[in-house]
Amino acid sequence: MSIILNSPLDMHLHLRDGNMLKVVAPLSSYQFSGAVIMPNLVPPITTKEALVEYKKRILNAIGNSSFKPYMTLFFKSTYTKEFLQSVKDEITSIKLYPAGITTNSEGGVDGFDIDNLKETLNAMSELEIPLSIHGETNGFVMDREAEFISIYTSLAQNFPNLKIIMEHITTKESVNLLDRFENLYATITLHHLLITLDDVAGGALEPHLFCKPIAKRPEDRDALREVAFKAHPKVMFGSDSAPHPQYAKEASYCSAGVFTAPIALQVLTELFLEHSNLVNLQSFISDNAKGIYKNISVPKKQVILEKEPYIVPKKYGEVVPMYAGKRLNYTIKEIK
Ligand SMILES: [Zn+2]
Repeated sequence: MSIILNSPLDMHLHLRDGNMLKVVAPLSSYQFSGAVIMPNLVPPITTKEALVEYKKRILNAIGNSSFKPYMTLFFKSTYTKEFLQSVKDEITSIKLYPAGITTNSEGGVDGFDIDNLKETLNAMSELEIPLSIHGETNGFVMDREAEFISIYTSLAQNFPNLKIIMEHITTKESVNLLDRFENLYATITLHHLLITLDDVAGGALEPHLFCKPIAKRPEDRDALREVAFKAHPKVMFGSDSAPHPQYAKEASYCSAGVFTAPIALQVLTELFLEHSNLVNLQSFISDNAKGIYKNISVPKKQVILEKEPYIVPKKYGEVVPMYAGKRLNYTIKEIK
């Protein structure tokens, strides 16, 4: 039996730059129709010129595959309405990082004083530019996302016309928030549907599963699974696939990030067929995102999978993927 996925979208992706970009971009553009590209480069993408140049480098790296990079800016509370107006047609959303919370987020927001953010967020509301947020405080690592709930709440209440995407949610608290505010949406990764902290550090330490936000408790994973498997219309797939070279992962001060882009569709297919159905996977992987990000154009692509063993490569360039060397039960047979 063939499984067909139409125009899969990855609504949270890290492609990096330079040689890494050249290695990883084709591993997404092959099977996805488009992806929201995160702006946390060094230095972060904060100008129209930098954004346009980065987009060119991405298009260069993917060659002639039909794939749309949905570009994002790194949020600054100094962005004026004039600036946002001038860049609006080039971007899909603006990504807000609390300062210093994850890879290359040092220049992010320090404190969430509404008065400070008001001018930029009001302008974004008026221009209908969505705000994507990495929602973690700098508290105790297991509590950071739950502690951020009050900030999500305050932003959702103070800016009711701003579309806010809670990126890569990992807790039951974030799941519960979805239905409390009309303007809150969320992305969910593959790895947070699969693993808990036990898989990362319960036995021998598994650096390739270490990520931010860190994987949480079984009940948190259950809450994520519930909304993903029923394809809650406010959730969409965002891999947060984040490549680091092997030496940076298998090391003291191991970098945070799980590389899942090349295996995401195969594993999601197995997971959904086991716990849900193909219709809901189609919504989770593409249709919900089209409903949430109303203004994206999505290239038509059909991904045909079959139940047939697929051995995950041990490495892509210098990057070790999730499930490296393991056998998956579904394989991509054809892309049309
Ligand atoms: Zn990310």
